[in-house]
Amino acid sequence: MIIVMRPGATPEEIQHICEKVKELGLTPHVSRGVERTIIGVIGEEEKIRVQPLEAYPGVENVVPILRPYKLASRDFKPEPTEFEMKNGVTVGGQKVVVMAGPCSVEGREMLFEVAREVRASGAAFLRGGAFKPRTSPYSFQGLGEEGLKYLREAADEFGLLVVTETMDTRTVELVSRYADMLQIGARNMQNFDLLKEVGMSKKPVLLKRGLSATIQELLLSAEYLLSKGNFKVVLCERGIRTFETATRNTIDINAVPVIKRETHLPVIVDPSHGTGKWEYVIPVARAAIAAGADGIMVELHPNPESAMSDGPQSLLPKKFRELMQQIRPIAQAVGREL
Ligand code: PEP
Ligand code: MN
Repeated sequence: MIIVMRPGATPEEIQHICEKVKELGLTPHVSRGVERTIIGVIGEEEKIRVQPLEAYPGVENVVPILRPYKLASRDFKPEPTEFEMKNGVTVGGQKVVVMAGPCSVEGREMLFEVAREVRASGAAFLRGGAFKPRTSPYSFQGLGEEGLKYLREAADEFGLLVVTETMDTRTVELVSRYADMLQIGARNMQNFDLLKEVGMSKKPVLLKRGLSATIQELLLSAEYLLSKGNFKVVLCERGIRTFETATRNTIDINAVPVIKRETHLPVIVDPSHGTGKWEYVIPVARAAIAAGADGIMVELHPNPESAMSDGPQSLLPKKFRELMQQIRPIAQAVGREL
């Protein structure tokens, strides 16, 4: 249910409605738009339906949200979400954001080498996994806290933001101490306890689409985060499983405009996991920006041949520079900047 306030509704009128909603044992979520304020009330809607809220001062109308996701929908928040982070970086704004780094943090030296490159190319985020979700239990599982320390040090040295994965409710607090943005990986998109925990943490979140998840399921997972009060959420299309075997996954480029239409949340594309092969990463990154994505996430490694994970899809620094040069004019062509 959303309570749409009149354009000139006063703060007191908005406050009054919020108090009424709380009295009913429900939680109001306020979305302040340029034109008007909308108050979202999720849960036992019957309690609201019997109240003559339309008669309250400042209220224009009360309407149900028909979509299964509520706070993530454009009904609740018509304007696109943008949020500011450190270093003057805004996610979802005019400038597209680039997140780059190795699949896994492998050591201090290599990470500093990558971070220098990420900075020089004009990207804002250093990525890298310290806790790795590997298909085989015998594969490298990540450096854990040691990896988080290297990420923080390297990012601070070069003025970058850290985005890194938390795989488990037990490590949310630990990862939050080092990261600027928590990544929820594809395999954990429907780990509902993790979503609730990260929702409560209030750290910005990168939520990756599950391997076989529909867009609706992705948005319902985002809803878990929003319903816990965390609205700093960026979605990530990272390819889905299809019958195609020429690439590791199939990037669903349709997802970009669909997500833009359905939700106010920003969306980025990960062409590295989406293709699984470095030679396809640049063209798919170009397509992502052309389709209106708010950014991209790519894997970058100084020596992909010796990478401990995802070497075949990792770009060499030289190729990453090419990628940045190539997406810049595309961003401008679609009214964005890089
Ligand atoms: C990653 O970004 O390193 C990763 C594991 O991605 P995904 O969860 O999309 O597979
Ligand atoms: Mn990877």
